[in-house]
Amino acid sequence: MVSAVPTPVKGDRSSTQGAPLRAWLQDITRASTSIFEGLAVTMSWMFRRPATIQYPDRIDKPVQEMLPDGYRGILEVDLLRCSGCMLCQRACPIDCLDIVVVKDPQTKGRFIERFDIDIGKCMYCGICSEACNFDALQHTTEFEGSATSLDDLLLHFATRPVPVSKHKAGQGPARRPQGSILREVIKPLYTRDKRTGVDHLAPAEAPPAPAKGDEE
Ligand code: SF4
Ligand code: SF4
Repeated sequence: MVSAVPTPVKGDRSSTQGAPLRAWLQDITRASTSIFEGLAVTMSWMFRRPATIQYPDRIDKPVQEMLPDGYRGILEVDLLRCSGCMLCQRACPIDCLDIVVVKDPQTKGRFIERFDIDIGKCMYCGICSEACNFDALQHTTEFEGSATSLDDLLLHFATRPVPVSKHKAGQGPARRPQGSILREVIKPLYTRDKRTGVDHLAPAEAPPAPAKGDEE
């Protein structure tokens, strides 16, 4: 026959009289101790140097200057060094680059008519810049590419036809400071905080005032 009363288990609080109260007090003690242990850890950090920084303010120098060598930020191309060889376009596995080189039928000179980089698609793998033998395409330390529209993520580097460079690999005009070309291209979208060096989305332009008579 099976007993209706469960057999007391060793350590069961309800097995002996007075044990529930003792266990309850132990629970309270344990909970209080763990709360104070957690608070002690939190309080100890009030007197230590923080491991994190407040971004984008409260930094001694621009974040871009603190990034490690080889950081792969937003791409930029120096068209004065670009030979229009298209190697980078062919190397990109997801077609982020759109380059158009045209030939002047009279002078037979070649011009880069379009050099667009879609930073909305780019996965910053570096394959394209590795493929460039002319040190024209490179990653910058710029990383703030947020925009309010996907169209704004398509960066147009050739605002006018630029003659292709004919210099040999390892030669050609000096490379412009890293990031300077990119900042010119994205300038309309961003304003740079001089103190932190961080770009912020420029305030949207105010809509044109309604013409007289259109107000109703
Ligand atoms: S970094 Fe990679 S994904 Fe981006 S454009 Fe270059 S090859 Fe394409
Ligand atoms: S950026 Fe480099 S790889 Fe791309 S077209 Fe220009 S020279 Fe060629």
